[in-house]
Amino acid sequence: MNIHEYQAKQLLKSYGCPVSDGRVVLKAEDAKTAAGELDGPLWVVKSQIHAGGRGKGKFKEPEAGEKGGVRLAKSVAEAAELARQMLGKTLVTHQTGPAGKQVNRIYIEDGSDISRELYLALLVDRGSSRVSVVCSTEGGMDIEEVAAHTPEKILTLTIDPAVGYMPFHGRRVAFALGLEGGQVKQMTQILGNMYRAFMDKDMEMLEINPLIVMTDGNLKLLDAKVGFDNNALYRHQDIMELRDTTEEDPKELEASKFDLNYIALDGEIGCMVNGAGLAMATMDIIKLYGAEPANFLDVGGGATKEKVTEAFKIITSDPNVKGILVNIFGGIMRCDIIAEGVIAAVKEVGLTVPLVVRLEGTNVELGKEIIKNSGLNVIAADNLADGAQKIVKAVKG
Ligand code: ADP
Ligand code: MG
Repeated sequence: MNIHEYQAKQLLKSYGCPVSDGRVVLKAEDAKTAAGELDGPLWVVKSQIHAGGRGKGKFKEPEAGEKGGVRLAKSVAEAAELARQMLGKTLVTHQTGPAGKQVNRIYIEDGSDISRELYLALLVDRGSSRVSVVCSTEGGMDIEEVAAHTPEKILTLTIDPAVGYMPFHGRRVAFALGLEGGQVKQMTQILGNMYRAFMDKDMEMLEINPLIVMTDGNLKLLDAKVGFDNNALYRHQDIMELRDTTEEDPKELEASKFDLNYIALDGEIGCMVNGAGLAMATMDIIKLYGAEPANFLDVGGGATKEKVTEAFKIITSDPNVKGILVNIFGGIMRCDIIAEGVIAAVKEVGLTVPLVVRLEGTNVELGKEIIKNSGLNVIAADNLADGAQKIVKAVKG
C-alpha cells in the first residue's frame, strides 16, 4: 500500500525528520485559508497522487495550465488559484501511464531555498535479507535515469536488521553526498529516524527525492514516497487509515474486498483460475497461443460460490476482456462449486463474450453436468492446452 506525500511527511515528522510546514486541501474553497496559515513568502502547491514525476508531469486539461503538478506561488492568492486549477484535473507523469491520475488532494507547503538536491532511499533487499540504503548526489531527477547513465553516482550500503542502524551508516552516506560539518550529524540523525520509521511501520520503500541542502546549510526532506508491506498492514491500524482507495484500480479494490488475488493486466483474455501456480501457467499458455491475459486471478483453494460469482463479475467488468478462460483444477476446490458460481454470475451479469471452461479434479463430472444443463453457451475444454487454444481461437478467429 502506498500513501500520499503529505501523509508520509506527517509520519516522518513524528519520527523527528525535518519537513516543511504544510496543509492538505481537498476543496478549492479551502485553499486560501490553508495557504494563509503558512508563513510565505514562497508557497509550493503540490498535486497529491500516488505517482512520482509530478513536477515534470502535464495535465490533460488545458485549463489546468502547462506548468506541471508542482508549482511555486508568490502569494496566498496565487497559491489558492493554482490549487483551484489543479484540483479535479488529470495529471500524466512518466509513472502514471498515458491515462494519468485525477488530482483529488493538493498539498500547499512552505517554499524552501534550495542549494542542492540529493537522493536517499531505504528499501527491503530480498537478496541479502537486509535493508538497503541508496543515496546519490543527483537528487530531484529520475533515479532510474541516473542508474542507467551514471551508475557511479549511486552508493548503496546495507543495514543488517539484527544489528540495526549505527551512526557510521549515516556518516558514510553523509560523506558520499559531500556533506560537511554539522550536516554530517544531521544526516546521521535523519537516516536513523528514517530507519526507525521504516522498521516500526513495516515499510517496503521509503524514498526521499529530493533531500535538500538549504541555502542556510540545513537538511530537509522535500518529497517523500512510502510503500508498506501489505502482509504486515494488519498490525498497523494507523497506517491502514491512510489508505486512499481512489488511487487504486477499482477492479483490484473490489477483488481485495472478497479476498481474491487479482491483478489487472493489459490483454484481452480474462482468466479465472485456482492456485497462483496454475494461474501463472494459464497466462503463459495464453501467450504461447498468441493472445494476452487481461488479468491474473487466483480464486484460492476454499472459494465459495459467492466468491466465484464476484470474481466472474470483476473479469466481465473489464472492457478489454474479449473472452474468458476458466481453468480449475479441483483439489480442495470442488468443480461443482465453480460451475455453480459461473452460472450464477452469468445469470446476474450476462455473457457477451466467449467462455471456455476447463474443469479437472474433484467432482469434475458433476461440474460438467451442471454447466451442460444450464443451457449456457459455454465451450468445454479437455485440458489446459485445449482450453487455451479454444479461447484464443474464439477471440481471434
Ligand atoms: P515529484 O518528484 O513528484 O516531481 P517533488 O516533490 O520532488 O515532486 O517536487 C519536484 C521539485 O519541485 C523538487 O525537486 C523541487 O525542486 C521542487 N520543490 C518541491 N517542493 C518544494 C518546496 N517545498 N520548496 C521549494 N521547491 C520545492
Ligand atoms: Mg520527487
